[in-house]
Amino acid sequence: MTPDEFRALGHELIEWVATYRERLATLPVRSPVRPGDVRARLPASPPEAGGGLAGIVDALATVVEPGVTHWNHPRFFAYFPSNTDLSSVLADLVGAGLGVQGMSWETSPAATEVEEVMMDWLRQLLGLSAAWTGVIHDTASTATLCALLCARERATGLGQERGGLQDGAPPLVVYASAQAHSSVTKAALLAGFGRDHLRWIDVDGERALRPDHLAAAIAADRAAGRRPCAVVATVGTTATTAIDPVAAIAAIAGRERLWLHVDAALAGTAMILPECRPLWAGVEDADSLVLNPHKWMGTGFDLSAYYVRDVQHLIQVMGTNPSYLRTAHDGEVSNFRDWHIQLGRRFRALKLWFLLLDAGAEGLRARLRRDLANARWLADQVDAAPGWERTDPVRLQTVCLRHVPPGLDAAAVDAHNQALAARVNESGAAYLTPSRVDGVQILRVSIGALGTERTDVAALWDLLQAEAAR
Ligand SMILES: *Cc1c(COP(=O)(O)O)cnc(C)c1O
Repeated sequence: MTPDEFRALGHELIEWVATYRERLATLPVRSPVRPGDVRARLPASPPEAGGGLAGIVDALATVVEPGVTHWNHPRFFAYFPSNTDLSSVLADLVGAGLGVQGMSWETSPAATEVEEVMMDWLRQLLGLSAAWTGVIHDTASTATLCALLCARERATGLGQERGGLQDGAPPLVVYASAQAHSSVTKAALLAGFGRDHLRWIDVDGERALRPDHLAAAIAADRAAGRRPCAVVATVGTTATTAIDPVAAIAAIAGRERLWLHVDAALAGTAMILPECRPLWAGVEDADSLVLNPHKWMGTGFDLSAYYVRDVQHLIQVMGTNPSYLRTAHDGEVSNFRDWHIQLGRRFRALKLWFLLLDAGAEGLRARLRRDLANARWLADQVDAAPGWERTDPVRLQTVCLRHVPPGLDAAAVDAHNQALAARVNESGAAYLTPSRVDGVQILRVSIGALGTERTDVAALWDLLQAEAAR
């Protein structure tokens, strides 16, 4: 493709994206396609002749768009907000246009230094101290894997340089709340701890990890000759936005010399608001921290921010320094290839830069406060409505609720709520996530898409009531 062809089609596609965003509210939130529908609209084999890109705008409309679930739809209340602000769409365009591979400082100094500054800007926005240094990952899952690898290597005094986990030493143990994200399990398994050495700690009535149970589990493992290694605290669990008591966990981790990793993938964004920061009080005593600007903040997938206190340890664990990667400026600069698992890396920091320039801290704060107020409003409606139950405190933007018609037994109430969610989601008018938490069927309403206003939340509430009455 020549620059002139790019220019012509590029303008058309920018127009297409802009129009798509304008039409969003008119589209069914969840894609209505059946398995195989999208595949069936594509030829089975690649084209022999070129020149087919001329038809791409039509193909986007007929092949792709019907098969998209619209995460940026104002009535998207499922999973978690995964906002892609249009500013970050432009940043991705620029990053791709530059075609940068930022593995080392020298392979594109701007990719490294813009990222350093953006991670520092973000740190300041979150109210974190200057003891933290950040690096961009693709996802929280990868960052949490890095955290557990660093924990393992600290506990073993860089055992990877010797026999690794196969040197016959007693097993290392990892602790997290029973409500922790599945990525914690995956990370612990991939890091070689083994399922036998993962401890799921009980939660309290608000589904937060119980520090007394954590301390007891650690003591039991020590008594049995095992080596407690790391604890993951979740600030904002996936199911209900429960908040583990970070300060109490940090006190135990400090006393027992455990690595403390904080998973604030969704809720970390809320810490841009000073009034939310008490929720993660104690975070300064953690060893590592992950949050996803690609969720509620708006940078667009994928951009996960991983912060550590001990960069040298991170580099010792993740660094490789073969001669062909050495450059003249090593020692004066950051070579991000040595800060995570992957070698090559995109210029993702542009997305954060564009978003922050466009919205400003004020703009972000106003939007997050709007979403928190919308969640409280919905909670108030639920609390005031006979036959409806709110199953969890509303700590941020997630409201967990269910409809409990009189005269039904527990199983029938569960089935009723599942059917209710299915009807709402099939309607295309809104999309929420049914979830089973501690054996109870609930409906999760996760508020915070960029375009979601009070009228959208009110429309969802009307729809829920209408469907529940059917
Ligand atoms: C979303 C989420 C994750 C996983 O995020 P990815 O970036 O998709 O890996 C992990 N933990 C929590 C608490 C989350 O909300």
